[in-house]
Amino acid sequence: MLLIQCPWCGPRAESEFSYGGEAEIVRPLDTEKLTDREWGEYLFMRKNTRGLHREQWNHAQGCRRWFNAERDTVTYAFRSVSKIGGAKEGESA
Ligand SMILES: [Zn+2]
Repeated sequence: MLLIQCPWCGPRAESEFSYGGEAEIVRPLDTEKLTDREWGEYLFMRKNTRGLHREQWNHAQGCRRWFNAERDTVTYAFRSVSKIGGAKEGESA
């Protein structure tokens, strides 16, 4: 079983979590001036990283909080987790 380190609750089973996609996607400030292509790129275009990837996760069946994680997409190993806007909280298996 894969354990994921929640920054608030500690290690928990993967089945308690929901994946939230790529982390740190910033919504454009002036959306009225975007072209359809620029808006589409913001909405749909994401990295497809092989290796370390910054992601958002939600502890849906626990504290229900969102956090960022750095995960290797090849091995599924979590490198670190952090509260959104906070510092990394350490290594996780
Ligand atoms: Zn939690």
